[in-house]
Amino acid sequence: EQDGPEAKEIANYLPYFPFKGIPRFYDIGGFLANPEIFQKIVDIFSTRYGDIGIDAVAGLDARGFILGPPIALALKKPFIMMRKEGKMPNTIKSSEYDTEYGKRSGLTVQKDRIKEGDRVLIIDDLVATGGTLSSAIQLVKACGGTVVECACVVELKMFIDPPAESGLPSRTKLFND
Ligand code: 5GP
Repeated sequence: EQDGPEAKEIANYLPYFPFKGIPRFYDIGGFLANPEIFQKIVDIFSTRYGDIGIDAVAGLDARGFILGPPIALALKKPFIMMRKEGKMPNTIKSSEYDTEYGKRSGLTVQKDRIKEGDRVLIIDDLVATGGTLSSAIQLVKACGGTVVECACVVELKMFIDPPAESGLPSRTKLFND
């Protein structure tokens, strides 16, 4: 459901978190506390991806680790962790990337988790500038896999194509590049 009556329960927002420059932090604790909504979200994703040939589900550190595993289990596919640097052995790393909160040093995935030709679904809780998802896409490609789709529960629309004077990065431009 897009912006439906459950939106606030899925991710209510609080101002100025984690720091003052961020006008709204969307807190997904809401749907985690509501098993009916959590189940509905997992069902929506597993229905969408049930018959389009997914080989693996990759979840992004940290909230993609909450959402990804129930979706992977429903699809009966392996779950792959994409973590911040320094958390797992034997990894490859994406290049530095920009996010809503500033620069990040790169995501990592363990070598051989994604095989040549694998069709991978990427899961995270929220997309803002798209920097984090772009980094994950880069990793899948570096392993020889294909990204079937990226799926998130919350999309911050203000980053799709913001006016130049806002100073906000454009997700459309990032993905086109
Ligand atoms: P992006 O890279 O698209 O700018 O930011 C998305 C990443 O930052 C995601 O991994 C997401 O978990 C986190 N993030 C950014 N803003 C928020 C927010 O308002 N709420 C939550 N839950 N995560 C956020």
